[in-house]
Amino acid sequence: VGPLSKSFWCELAWLGGPAPAAGVVIEVDDGRITAVTAGHEVPPAGAERLDGLVVPGFANAHSHAFQRALRGLTHGGSGSFWTWREQMYALAGRLDPDDVLVLTRATFAEMALAGVTLVGEFHYLHHGPGGVPYVEPNVLGAAVIAAAADVGVRLTLIDVCYLHGGIGAPPEGAQRRFCDRDVDAWAARASALAGSAMVRIGAAIHSVRAVDPAAAAAVAAWASERAAPLHAHVSEQPAENEACLAAYGATPSAVLAQAGAMSPRFTAVHATHVTDADVALLGAAGACCCLCPTTERDLADGIGPARRLRDGGVRIALGSDSNAVIEPLEEARAVELDERLATGVRGRHGARDLLAAATRGGYESLGWAGGGVIAPGAPADLVVARLDGVRLVGVPPAERIGALVFAGAAADVTDVVVGGRFVVREGAHVSLDVAAELERALAR
Ligand SMILES: [Zn+2]
Repeated sequence: VGPLSKSFWCELAWLGGPAPAAGVVIEVDDGRITAVTAGHEVPPAGAERLDGLVVPGFANAHSHAFQRALRGLTHGGSGSFWTWREQMYALAGRLDPDDVLVLTRATFAEMALAGVTLVGEFHYLHHGPGGVPYVEPNVLGAAVIAAAADVGVRLTLIDVCYLHGGIGAPPEGAQRRFCDRDVDAWAARASALAGSAMVRIGAAIHSVRAVDPAAAAAVAAWASERAAPLHAHVSEQPAENEACLAAYGATPSAVLAQAGAMSPRFTAVHATHVTDADVALLGAAGACCCLCPTTERDLADGIGPARRLRDGGVRIALGSDSNAVIEPLEEARAVELDERLATGVRGRHGARDLLAAATRGGYESLGWAGGGVIAPGAPADLVVARLDGVRLVGVPPAERIGALVFAGAAADVTDVVVGGRFVVREGAHVSLDVAAELERALAR
């Protein structure tokens, strides 16, 4: 399919201001926005009509798609992050490449229905049972790329370096499937991955538990040479901080800074239990933190210090992480609402800040700078939310952004456009029966 020149007329569109603009025409050429003008009372000839409220596409900056298969199986139990992790390992140990393709496609399709136009898949399931490499060493990464293409969403495949079962401990059980032989083997495999118009390749240091400081420095250098996004799980759990302090005499953030990981391309995932000095390091580097509030709640991790991070100059992105639920607007409002519960203070993050984290913040974190906004030059990635449904009908015009963020749901998403093409139309995926895809994937 060749270049695509077209235009959309939006009844209302959020262009970054306090209230949506009315009668917005968005012109698109070859998947990018070329012009945005407001005040058109009726759609120009040939324009696609988008009724409702149009916002930039949501970026899901941290996903483990396969963990979608744990939904409903793990949430009611007792225990902690560490007992949940054993259940996750049992699942990871069983998946073959076809399972990964089918499950990832179904999960990405659920994300698309919720308005996600860009996924950052933190991909660490690399090898066969027992850690034996596949004949095609990137067969599972290729399955993730194929899944995103089938669904029609943009992807940053964040290839994860994972070497140890814990600090100073060899990998055990399913962890062997995550591990390359050493950091050079990781780099050789990751270097064979290729991006495309819809796919970017990033790197990750899984955590200070799974990657030693010397290897972390090598991963950081690999990402730096390619100007690629670099992510790491950071301080999700107090026990991780304690083990890191005991082994290295420094916090995970300090160890990663020492390894050269911190830069504007760096995203610390979670950052739930960070010190003021950690925040200063992240802020000075111009780094991003990706909060995953619905997963952090589910795993009893704690509440990420989003206000403290933002005050320290750290940018915020959002992720669905374990995919226990896929509700980008819930991730966004949870940043504010969870802090209200913890502090007794309201209004630490405004609706526009939260919506920016769900959109532009994630695009930046995933290496698509300039995306996640409705402006010339940005990818033409759009989400349409209905305003005539039970949750949002009747809201005064000036309050519609706040209402969407604090009361909207995936069920309000009617249409999703990626690169100027419809991926979701009138509440349904254009080519996939998403519930049937999920049922089939989960049955396996
Ligand atoms: Zn994660």
